[in-house]
Amino acid sequence: MDKKQVDTPVTESADEALQHIVDGFRRFRKEVFPQQEELFKKLAHEQTPRAMFITCADSRIVPELITQTNPGDLFVTRNVGNVVPPYGQMMGGVSTAIEFAVMALNVHHIIICGHSDCGAMKAVLNPESLERMPTVKAWLRHSEVAKTVVAENCGCVDHTTLGVLTKENVLAQLDHLRTHPSVAAKIASGQLFVHGWVYDIETSEIVAYDAELGEFRSIDEGPVPLATPRARYRHD
Ligand code: ZN
Repeated sequence: MDKKQVDTPVTESADEALQHIVDGFRRFRKEVFPQQEELFKKLAHEQTPRAMFITCADSRIVPELITQTNPGDLFVTRNVGNVVPPYGQMMGGVSTAIEFAVMALNVHHIIICGHSDCGAMKAVLNPESLERMPTVKAWLRHSEVAKTVVAENCGCVDHTTLGVLTKENVLAQLDHLRTHPSVAAKIASGQLFVHGWVYDIETSEIVAYDAELGEFRSIDEGPVPLATPRARYRHD
């Protein structure tokens, strides 16, 4: 944040910011809710989401908007850098949400979605920017593996590094996801599928990892690329 922004009187704009949100809620309650009352009545006592969606906390990513889904469709978990800590290291919010989604809600898909211009990925590339943010720094050590993969293999020039790292980070978090016993067991029996996506804020394109090809490709047309290893067991 530059000096000018810090010096802006915050009280007024903070009030306006809150008012904007409250006005939005009032509009929702008055205009939107009545149109979808049936849906909310149905959702009042149960949820059967179509997928779990793990993405960055970035305000520019709105999972329900970009997938045109309704309340009840996506079980969403968000954090800085769309990180999934490996199993056992951290019994925190992400691990809890994964276990709940897989075991209690029985979701069949988990999508990890990174995005363009990600502040977390920029911070991974410039760790000195995190000197005064020890918590963010500690959290992003789960992305260190992606940084190393890029550094040792990519030979990228400056302006392409961020994009490559963002994709590698999604793949690293997919690897971490598979260390969770609930996830591993259901992937092995073909009951759970995992997906690695990257969303471009400026163009709205989504590319998904195709494990067979070993590369990301657009999901605009054709069969959706799959990042899931083959099932080894069958439960009919
Ligand atoms: Zn981000």
